[in-house]
Amino acid sequence: MTAVTPLFRAAGRLVSPGGTKGKLTILTYHRVPPDIDPLLSSDQVDAQKFARHMAVISECFNVLPLPQALEHLERGTLPARALSITFDDGYQDNYTIALPILQRHGFKATFFVCSGYINDGLMFNDIIVEALRACESTELDLNWLGLGQQPAHDMASKRGCAQKILSTVKYLPFKEREQACLRVWETATSGKARPRLMMNDEQIRQLAAQGMTIGGHTHTHPILNRIDLNSAREDIARNRQLLGALVGQEPLIFAYPNGRPVHDYGHEHVALLKELGYRFAVSTAWGVATKSCDRFQLPRFSPWDDNPKRLVLRLLKNAMTGQHPLTAPDLS
Ligand SMILES: [Zn+2]
Repeated sequence: MTAVTPLFRAAGRLVSPGGTKGKLTILTYHRVPPDIDPLLSSDQVDAQKFARHMAVISECFNVLPLPQALEHLERGTLPARALSITFDDGYQDNYTIALPILQRHGFKATFFVCSGYINDGLMFNDIIVEALRACESTELDLNWLGLGQQPAHDMASKRGCAQKILSTVKYLPFKEREQACLRVWETATSGKARPRLMMNDEQIRQLAAQGMTIGGHTHTHPILNRIDLNSAREDIARNRQLLGALVGQEPLIFAYPNGRPVHDYGHEHVALLKELGYRFAVSTAWGVATKSCDRFQLPRFSPWDDNPKRLVLRLLKNAMTGQHPLTAPDLS
């Protein structure tokens, strides 16, 4: 315990009280690489940073498994300074790196898994980043994407090139995006074997066996607003059924891919989740979950600070600001 811990706890009780005024901070993590990866964004959380986050969180917050925390939130029985931890997508480093750190503190987290990439699949953004990592040429001909000749001679230029490709392909129709990513892979690597980044079946089963929660995150990670409702239903239902078969229980909590309310999903998708048997869903809108939030659009928060004190202050500030207006219940 550091000298400021009692102060942080007292402030936490004020801004994140328990009971009927309970507030639940839900954290979102993605990859937890062993070291800072020069090709990933600057707000990444590597193993050391994640360990520092968990250490300070264990001192200043009451960490609950998300399903239990949500039941408490609804019943008005949350403890003060309540916090839950989630991971999106299903990266292998969640199992190899984050899990032992979580277990050191006795934390139970929730893992939202995209079933279409389990074992040897790669999400589109990772295909681009890994293509640039494996690229041995000093520049890439991307005229076919409208990006001309792009330098790729060092980590900085590779990262810049990957970001340009990502922003060009991110909102393409799903099939076109897949084709573009494959072409980038072929162009940059001359068809090398792809690395494995996602968890395998056994790792997901092990997470569930260790008391972690497996949540739904679609089969192929589409932006739901960009596909028709029938395709969305199929993708969400397939994911739920496959995860259910894998761990013996269909997930009850869902995370929207990309997750921005209105931009990435709409009220028709909220209705779809209810129809398919989900009980709760989380977005990526920043905020803190309260009893008055729509239980199918619970806001989360993505911490990236390296300094533990700054991290706690940012979490307390987030708890003070309340819920994102777009995730308030739809009363229309
Ligand atoms: Zn995702």
